[in-house]
Amino acid sequence: MAGIGIVGAGISGLTLALRLQQLGVEATLYSEGDAASMSSGRLPNTVARTQQTQARERELGCEHLADPGCLMDTVSFSIKGVPPLEFTGRIADPYHVADFRLLLPALMDDFTRRGGEIVVADTSPDAAQVDRWSQRHELMVVAAGRRSVAELFPRDAGRSPYDSPQRRLFAGLFHGIRPSTTFAYNISPACGEIFRMPMMTRHGLVSSIVVEAIPGGPFEPLTLMDPAEVAPALLAAIAEHAPRLREMIDPAGFELTGPEDALQGAVTPTVREAVAKLPSGRVALAIGDAWITNDPLTGQGANGGSACAWIAAESIAAGGPYDVGFAHATDERMWDEAAGPVTMWTNMFLQPPPDHIIGLLAAAATRVEVADRVMGLFGDPVRNWAVLSNPDKLNRLVDALV
Ligand SMILES: Cc1cc2nc3c(=O)[nH]c(=O)nc-3n(C[C@H](O)[C@H](O)[C@H](O)COP(=O)(O)OP(=O)(O)OC[C@H]3O[C@@H](n4cnc5c(N)ncnc54)[C@H](O)[C@@H]3O)c2cc1C
Repeated sequence: MAGIGIVGAGISGLTLALRLQQLGVEATLYSEGDAASMSSGRLPNTVARTQQTQARERELGCEHLADPGCLMDTVSFSIKGVPPLEFTGRIADPYHVADFRLLLPALMDDFTRRGGEIVVADTSPDAAQVDRWSQRHELMVVAAGRRSVAELFPRDAGRSPYDSPQRRLFAGLFHGIRPSTTFAYNISPACGEIFRMPMMTRHGLVSSIVVEAIPGGPFEPLTLMDPAEVAPALLAAIAEHAPRLREMIDPAGFELTGPEDALQGAVTPTVREAVAKLPSGRVALAIGDAWITNDPLTGQGANGGSACAWIAAESIAAGGPYDVGFAHATDERMWDEAAGPVTMWTNMFLQPPPDHIIGLLAAAATRVEVADRVMGLFGDPVRNWAVLSNPDKLNRLVDALV
């Protein structure tokens, strides 16, 4: 029996494969494409990885694309209004931002160089294929991203408050923005959000811009028009809704870095059942986006996928039998220690902020100590949700700092 089968070579599947390999558990990774197709494809996301995710990669001996220019150490936060609510906070534990078309192939290479097996599937495999693969393994872990293998893992209605996208997305890599390690986080009520981050890419250090458009609002056309023509309209939206970001842009040089360097779409926030019994008698466990897909608004999907992969690897390495009871116990740990707080936090932020959150942001605008603390919380989603979901706790924290 060839150990654990893992479907999907995103950050969740690769973190799991590398950690199992490190813990001495045999694992085979089934991937939809090879490293070359992954590196030449369309921009898949614009991920900022927290210090916790970076620490896991460090422990694996997989530190890639280190460059101080893509370590975000400051946040410039703004909510449009008259006057705007604005503050700048320090990120004590900087986020690392690298193009996943560079990072994931590097992680694949780490896994194979250390003796790991990657099987490249020539078609997009389905539940029947997962079942066939499972006959070689003691357990299947499905980390196939947000398409998931939906027949195996139905939507969990109790944990999925939305049945349609709450934002439409545009993301692109741009030339023409002054280099900076600052994360520009701009909220425009009733319109959506505009983010800018530095990112290490095959073009070197450039800027990524993400537009989160409330459906039917004024940002939505940016998520639907030809990306090659988006720059002028995006610049106008930035000038109106994110003026501090506009100051960093040289209009003459503001353009996409390449035709593949943009994405458009929408995500329906979905939590799925995490455990399925396959016809082979084996069990399949979903992790990462294959289990829970959140809107990228709070930038936590990849970080949560990495955290859940780590928890799953520890559970697996502790030994079987890898039955339904094992899978449910792992699912509960992943929910409590990583995925649950992120999901509830992200779903809350898709709605207009409640009064206690507005109070926190207003305090951050007047006291740098509060601004820094807010940014520290964002890097630790479990502690963050414990505070944000409890107005009394939050008010005590603010009172102690002002
Ligand atoms: C614009 C944008 C910005 C984002 N920003 C952030 C951020 O700042 N921070 C953050 O943490 N997250 C962010 N996210 C979310 C993050 O990208 C995802 O949550 C994360 O990449 C999910 O990783 P995964 O490994 O679970 O799935 P994926 O990255 O989707 O990987 C799954 C892999 O499995 C393959 N696959 C699919 N089906 C099969 C199959 N049946 N068999 C074999 N292989 C298969 C796919 O080709 C893919 O390579 C962002 C997302 C977007 C769109």
